Amino acid sequence: MTMTPVMMSLLTTIRQWIDAMTDVIAPRRCAVCHRVLGHGEQWLCRACLEQMPLTGYHSREFKFNPMEQLFAGRVPIERATALFHYRRGDPYASILHDIKYRHTPLLGTWLMERYARQLQQIGWLDGITAVVPVPLHRSKLASRGYNQALLLARGVAQAVPDIEVIEAVKAIRAHATQTHKNAIERQKNVQGCFAPTDDAATRLADRHILLVDDVVTTGSTLEACAQVLLEAVPGLKISIISLAGATLD
Ligand SMILES: [Zn+2]
Repeated sequence: MTMTPVMMSLLTTIRQWIDAMTDVIAPRRCAVCHRVLGHGEQWLCRACLEQMPLTGYHSREFKFNPMEQLFAGRVPIERATALFHYRRGDPYASILHDIKYRHTPLLGTWLMERYARQLQQIGWLDGITAVVPVPLHRSKLASRGYNQALLLARGVAQAVPDIEVIEAVKAIRAHATQTHKNAIERQKNVQGCFAPTDDAATRLADRHILLVDDVVTTGSTLEACAQVLLEAVPGLKISIISLAGATLD
């Protein structure tokens, strides 16, 4: 059935009406300040979106980019950036908590899609043809129901149609929570946790990929994933992106 313009506008009206009704029953609130969202606002209110503590790492050269420096000498990467600064207790830190534990991973997809669009405009994504999420072990996947990194990867692919999502790394062993571990403990903790998928080498050979995770703290998880891919895939180039970077500067 083809939609006539009249039907389309009727559908739009119905959708707006449903949105308005839903807002009355359970108003959508800003993920940061929890104020009720206004018309045209999605996930975050305009003020919180404007005041977001952006890192701007994407426009910095290596010596001023703490995220690229974090991986230097550990694993060879092309570029690295994060959307915003993560500081414990900061109101914006609740975004990470929301997408992981409060079942709102689409907030992450939305933020990453906006960021990827911006990165594409300045050429930061040039040459990158695939986005690879950090995997979640099946035991965690079963309890959470989704892998937040995969939903972030989808945000990138939604913004840039030339970039496809490829789940090229699998979590073969569950690791203990990283929260209270220092850098060396974290590095040991993730050793042997990841492996490339069987088709990683054929699908990713000679390509430049973007490895994605929700937050970078010591970088040990991303380092371990990058390491197993570089060992398995010939001619692979890796760049790194995360939603948040933990107080790197
Ligand atoms: Zn707000």
